[in-house]
Amino acid sequence: MSRILSFQTRIIDIPTVRPHKLSFGSIQQQSYCIVRAELASGAVGWGEAATIGGASWNEESPESIQHAIQSYLIPAVMGHEAGEFETLLQRMDKSCRGNYFAKSAVEMALIDAVARSQGIPAYQLLGGKLHQQLPLAWTLATGDVDKDLEEATRKLAERKHRIFKIKIGARRPEEDVALVTEIAKALAGHAKITVDVNQAWDGNTARRYVPELAHAGVDLIEQPVAQWNTEAMASLVAMPMRTLIMADESICSPQDAYALAHQHASHVFSLKVAKHGGLHRTRKVAAVAEAADIGWYGGTMLETSLGSAASAHVFATLAGTHHGCELFGPQLLVDDIVESQMIVRDFELVIPDGPGYGVTVDEAKLARFDRARVGLTAVHVDMGRQTAFKSN
Ligand SMILES: [Mg+2]
Repeated sequence: MSRILSFQTRIIDIPTVRPHKLSFGSIQQQSYCIVRAELASGAVGWGEAATIGGASWNEESPESIQHAIQSYLIPAVMGHEAGEFETLLQRMDKSCRGNYFAKSAVEMALIDAVARSQGIPAYQLLGGKLHQQLPLAWTLATGDVDKDLEEATRKLAERKHRIFKIKIGARRPEEDVALVTEIAKALAGHAKITVDVNQAWDGNTARRYVPELAHAGVDLIEQPVAQWNTEAMASLVAMPMRTLIMADESICSPQDAYALAHQHASHVFSLKVAKHGGLHRTRKVAAVAEAADIGWYGGTMLETSLGSAASAHVFATLAGTHHGCELFGPQLLVDDIVESQMIVRDFELVIPDGPGYGVTVDEAKLARFDRARVGLTAVHVDMGRQTAFKSN
């Protein structure tokens, strides 16, 4: 065991290889709050919280995440045993309500540091590896049918992906259904098609167009209505169709999981380490899913290979029925922050072995994408003595 010695945080911005269009806008870069934790033993661990479109996906933004970590979460855990994860989560909850993305980045760094100090993969601290690899989805979000189809055909030929998620909700519903139908027809027999509406529809619109998407051959429909509109989700689940309804923005805490299960408001939960508040809480949400006969899907906030590998480690430990994962974030970025990326083989993501999350952070790459570039704002705390300083 070893005590927590210090933390550093920074925000990095990495451009995407193409614009990524969602119901609430188009992103051209991804922003991350990166956390470096050091233990008294000398072990170092890395964590990350990704956001999609600043504060567009939910309330947290890279800036608010960094602020919560520096002002509240670091003082709450500094000097304590790094491996006492439940105690640390309680301490963070007491000092700071909500802010799950921020908490997840701190916990991710500490799990990495503890696993590395023991020379073991992180999944061994989380229950052990049930899955060696997971089917890997790709998101088609160019906003153009021809470009989407060209991208899907290339991914199929490369044997990287054969589950394709289409982002809809920005156009009129009938236009979206026409686009999805065209893509689904072209890829029929070669790939599974899912759609993500990112909360764009009201209940009546969803009840009208979800059956049309089902008719087009869509396997799974993600968050068709607002995060709070679980009654509409339940009405969709009750429809007689083979298409599954998946909650994403609606499912954050274990209590959300219980409420959704109780209301029969989803067939599948999209799990994301950030929105659940860390890897241990991801397992708690997954436990509710397993108990309620709800499937799970390994979701993404478009993390770098660091956050994607951490997510892969916890997803690899989960029992229950799964529908694959979408940890393709690194492939959407012009560059990464690790030395070598996770392997994708025969349409599946191979869970990386090796100490920690099985990936090695490249500090030169971090520096290259650092928002501050010169003069990184860092917080360094020596066993309870906290000082903020500028370092280059
Ligand atoms: Mg989603």
